[in-house]
Amino acid sequence: MRAQPTASHYVNGRYIEDEGGAPLPVIYPATGETIAMLRSATPNVLELAVEAARAAQPAWARLKPVERGRILRRAADILRARNADLARIETLDTGKAIQETLVADALSAADCLEYFGGAVAAYNGEAIDLGGPFAYTRREALGVCVGIGAWNYPIQIAGWKSAPALAMGNAMVFKPSENTPLSALALAEIYSEAGLPDGLFNVVQGYGDVGAGLVGHDVVAKVSVTGSVPTGRKVLSLAGSKMKHATMELGGKSPLIVFDDADIENAIGGAMLGNFYSTGQICSNGTRVFVQSGIHDRFVDRLIERTKKIRIGDPLDPETQMGPLVSKAQHDKVVGYIEIGKQDGATLACGGNVPSLQGFQGGFFVEPTVFTGVTDTMRIAREEIFGPVMSVLKFDGEDEVIDRANDTEFGLAAGVFTRDLPRAHRVIAELLAGTCWINAYNLTPVEIPFGGFKQSGIGRENSLAALALYSQLKSIYVETGDVASPY
Ligand code: NDP
Repeated sequence: MRAQPTASHYVNGRYIEDEGGAPLPVIYPATGETIAMLRSATPNVLELAVEAARAAQPAWARLKPVERGRILRRAADILRARNADLARIETLDTGKAIQETLVADALSAADCLEYFGGAVAAYNGEAIDLGGPFAYTRREALGVCVGIGAWNYPIQIAGWKSAPALAMGNAMVFKPSENTPLSALALAEIYSEAGLPDGLFNVVQGYGDVGAGLVGHDVVAKVSVTGSVPTGRKVLSLAGSKMKHATMELGGKSPLIVFDDADIENAIGGAMLGNFYSTGQICSNGTRVFVQSGIHDRFVDRLIERTKKIRIGDPLDPETQMGPLVSKAQHDKVVGYIEIGKQDGATLACGGNVPSLQGFQGGFFVEPTVFTGVTDTMRIAREEIFGPVMSVLKFDGEDEVIDRANDTEFGLAAGVFTRDLPRAHRVIAELLAGTCWINAYNLTPVEIPFGGFKQSGIGRENSLAALALYSQLKSIYVETGDVASPY
């Protein structure tokens, strides 16, 4: 089962290699076998990528927005046409079940390219009437932008960053996570095939040092990172020290609140999606599930019943609902948190084991796990686990649950399940989170802004908000009469 690309990096419209780069093995998380061997970018590769982007960007920015958009929309069509192949690459790289990668990864990137490819032509500055003289504003490209990705949604993240950047006339150098380097290369090929001029979307592989090298590069005007809070802090301080624009999409420990009057099956469905999809490796997951005391026990019984039915196993089998975690390190981290949960006194209501699966003994699997009787101070209720581990917390009143839900350093997302819609809106308005759902969870259509409050990040992806953040505003005053000069 090989997934070896032509070479490690895609720079200036072609694959390049530098044998001096540190080896970067690509591991299939379901078996632990090495399926490709890439190399980390050397300073030489990094320089070539930044220079290619710098050289290509001005002519691209001078094109009519509708012409740039047309190329993005063509690339969206190719992504859709190749969805099955891309889903397979994504499953091999991440271990996520193919039934997910067929619907949630390349297709989300395609939606994004299509949206920004269309929206950019209508995204203009404004004219300001000054009673004779007037002014107008222009939304101008920033220049060379850097995108740095996490490993949970590799092609989606590459799409979410590159589409608004390119639409606005920027060039991008993208560094995928070292765990999942493959699909960004496929995206780069697709952009070229769609007619994107060479140098505008470059992919360089590497570990954190390559990311840091890009962030610190003097030519780079903006950096957008999807990753953990500690990485975000490092990147933001380096970017800030050089006055670069920055978007930070970071981690979370989001609350999902289920009131007594909620549709219980929908609420459980939302909680399961918000904890087990992508083997729990989603930044916006509602990992603190607050359930009101009146339905708590019924909710837990039915949740356990449904969780036990999740089919875990071969990610390439279309019937499989949950694959392994992305890496041995992440697996060990999640297993460690399950131990911590038990030691801290939470009740392990289901899961918690490492399953032994025929033919997949080397894989990084963990059973979907539910803890009940979780209290606010337990580590499993405070720290981001990034695995299929749900904490259920009981509550009585509305004010109480709002206080408890907000008692966290994070603020990425939140959800409320209730049939009482005035209450739903009232509670959501009080929750300190950037992306919220009422009677749903984890849906992130490109049309709505996505991002976090507090430590969960700065800036937004998707929607017109992203176009604003990949551009800078120029104001132009136009005199229509004489210059009123005292000299
Ligand atoms: P990391 O923070 O470990 O890494 C994110 C990216 O940053 C990787 O490409 C990494 O490279 C790179 N990196 C690491 N150190 C530096 C540095 N000093 N300078 C520049 N780049 C650096 O996150 P994970 O990949 O482990 O992803 C999981 C995290 O991402 C979770 O916290 C999750 O919540 C968050 N996330 C947030 C999302 C959001 O939109 N808010 C969405 C998805 C995930 P390398 O991998 O090679 O070390």
